[in-house]
Amino acid sequence: MSWGIVQLPAQRALVYSYVDPQAGPSAKGALVRSETPTLDDARDAATRPNITVRLGPGLTPRALTEEELDDLQLPDEPQWLEFFRPREEGPWRKDPLLAGRFHPQHPNDLQVSFFLPAHRQVEQMWVRLDREVPSLGAWGGTLLNTSHLDPTLTQGTRVDVRGAKGAKAPLWVSAVMAKNLERWDAVCSACGFDLVLEPVEALLARQFTGVPEGSVMEAFTTRCAMCNQTQSVALRRDTATLEEPGRADSRTAARIALIVVAMLGALSFVAWELLK
Ligand SMILES: [Zn+2]
Repeated sequence: MSWGIVQLPAQRALVYSYVDPQAGPSAKGALVRSETPTLDDARDAATRPNITVRLGPGLTPRALTEEELDDLQLPDEPQWLEFFRPREEGPWRKDPLLAGRFHPQHPNDLQVSFFLPAHRQVEQMWVRLDREVPSLGAWGGTLLNTSHLDPTLTQGTRVDVRGAKGAKAPLWVSAVMAKNLERWDAVCSACGFDLVLEPVEALLARQFTGVPEGSVMEAFTTRCAMCNQTQSVALRRDTATLEEPGRADSRTAARIALIVVAMLGALSFVAWELLK
């Protein structure tokens, strides 16, 4: 989402980069006819673009400096960018958990917290929403930034996001969180936060050592990643039913429904520290 110069095989172009809803990261502008872009080139790039390129590895514009932007009298955004914005505001605008997090000028652009456990950090990035994801109670969209930490999160990546009680901002639903949502229901008794950020299996292995082989953990409690209070996690009823047939008796004997208050310190997720 900025002005730059892109080097093409035989020529260069003054372009503005943006995310095309269908084609992904792109840039559009005008070919540069002389050594440096002229005011005419700049005017063409902003109002009558004559070239479009799809960006990717090896084809990344060099961002213009503030001085170059001033010299070329380029607008903050080209006129034609309007064409690539979704025309209507989507149903996500009515989601109360997203209220106040949309960009004032770009009604479908949402600021989202990306929890990156591998890096022990949370990154704030913008996502342009464009679809519903009912299976996760989430919204889908295109990432407008590139992560400084996670190389898989580049501009144009398709991501799912979701608001949650107890969280200050909407969250990126990582693959791990999506898998947890399919199998487990979670809710914090204090703040209502209903997501588990790390694999539930890893949480169980760490929290409950010495659980007899073959036992099924149907419900347990852990530390809420948002408020550090007690979060209940239970196997989803439909998932439990799905796994029961034919094995009910042996399972009943082995089943342990443990309700345990989580351990302190090492057991609490790092996100709490980061959000304080
Ligand atoms: Zn909580």
